[in-house]
Amino acid sequence: MLLAERYQAVIDYFLREMPSPQTELRYRNPFELLVAVVLSAQCTDVRVNLLTPALFEVFPTAEKMAEAEVDELFDLVRTCSYPNSKAKHLLGLAKRLVEVYDGQVPSGFKDLTSLPGVGRKTANVIQSVIFDEPALAVDTHVFRVAYRLGLTRAAKTPEETERQLTRHIPKEYWSRAHHWLILHGRYVCLARAPKCETCGLLPVCARRGLSKAEKESLF
Ligand code: SF4
Repeated sequence: MLLAERYQAVIDYFLREMPSPQTELRYRNPFELLVAVVLSAQCTDVRVNLLTPALFEVFPTAEKMAEAEVDELFDLVRTCSYPNSKAKHLLGLAKRLVEVYDGQVPSGFKDLTSLPGVGRKTANVIQSVIFDEPALAVDTHVFRVAYRLGLTRAAKTPEETERQLTRHIPKEYWSRAHHWLILHGRYVCLARAPKCETCGLLPVCARRGLSKAEKESLF
């Protein structure tokens, strides 16, 4: 199968099966999504959704969070991974939002990545979900599923995966492709035990036909 045919088949599949994918993080405004995405690094959306209601009740705005003590933030985020560094990031992020951006989440990529705890993936998520900008954020699910499907080749970093995906996927689908691959990785193409037998993408998947040993040598 040619690479272009595989991309087309995957896009057609997801357009049919998941026409309007959404983030599973719960949020009510750009600030809450930014905080939730920062907390979701190396952590599940389910866990983040469990702790954010209490966090946002105490600190509903960047202004309020900027006045917090780091220990207060730590207590509220302690159930997610890396609570120490995330509490410090949230405090630094809130302070910078207040000092430089009048308490608002900026839309520019450079502005976003200047915030503590905000890397390329988080900035891409905010740009696509909040500002409707074409951006394709690559997390661990996107990285793994794209590789298994055969959409990327020899990509060693999320940046390389993003470059290859955005080279082949039309811009209008970038934001949706991020959600498609995340949700597929979360519910079907699981890291340890992908559900290939019931996967609708099996006919076009690069993993199809590989021996057990070959599969195990991959992701
Ligand atoms: S066929 Fe298996 S490896 Fe390929 S995308 Fe589906 S679940 Fe993942």
